[in-house]
Amino acid sequence: MNFGKLQLNDNIKNKLSAAIDSGTLSHAILLTGGTQKERKSLAVLIAQTLFCENDSKPCGKCGSCKKIKNGVHPDIIITEGEAGKQRSIKIDDVREIRNRAYIMPNEAPFQIFIILEASSMGEEAQNALLKILEEPPSTARFILASRSRDDLRQTVLSRVTSFALSEDSGQAAGEKENAKAAKAAEDIIKALLTKDEYKIVLGTGAVEKDRKLFKAAAEKIILILRGAVISRYTDYSGDGAQWAMRLAETFSDRQLIDMQNKLKELFADADKNANENLLLTRLSMELASCADI
Ligand SMILES: [Zn+2]
Repeated sequence: MNFGKLQLNDNIKNKLSAAIDSGTLSHAILLTGGTQKERKSLAVLIAQTLFCENDSKPCGKCGSCKKIKNGVHPDIIITEGEAGKQRSIKIDDVREIRNRAYIMPNEAPFQIFIILEASSMGEEAQNALLKILEEPPSTARFILASRSRDDLRQTVLSRVTSFALSEDSGQAAGEKENAKAAKAAEDIIKALLTKDEYKIVLGTGAVEKDRKLFKAAAEKIILILRGAVISRYTDYSGDGAQWAMRLAETFSDRQLIDMQNKLKELFADADKNANENLLLTRLSMELASCADI
């Protein structure tokens, strides 16, 4: 892949080139870091590379490259939020993207939906997008761009492959928190699998006194519980797939769904200023009760 005048670190150049050359670029990617202009330029460059008709991609000269550069390619749909303005990409905008994604491309093999400043999607809009990221039509690809991973919901992040234009400190901190939440989620799931109430109480201690971590871990566990149910019917390869499989072996669908619902309730209550110790007690009790312990 030719990066032209775009100044990027070798890490992202190598990662992107390898994924595109081998045809393994994920159907949904997220570009973070850098400036707003750099993210936009890179998103357009990737789109050109995917559609370019020549060997040295993007050539900048073929019909596809030119149409994309001039913003007139019928299969490239760009939605751009206003930087720092929450909800400037509305749920209706995302619904439009979803509807459009099911329409056949005009001339290219697939359509590319570029969502710039993706953090300007509110929670509702991100949830609407999630539905199509989870089960995208084979003719739709997504390129999201945002200042930092922190600005997007965990559920959306779990569906995209991230490429960082620069290692900003916010991003590094976000990744650290993400790893912490994944570890906390894993501890709770391990405890659940023992079916031992005391171990469940200990396991939930990982998120003690940290509401943000509590919520992030709860979101991860909900995803894995969903994965557990899905894994019975089809291959599940999402985050925590190995835990999803173990959960499916240990619990019935009803138990797994009860656990998801309880976690969603607790997640909503965490925002309502509920007492943190109480939340934790409820978490272990409710999970044990769903597991019929
Ligand atoms: Zn070209």
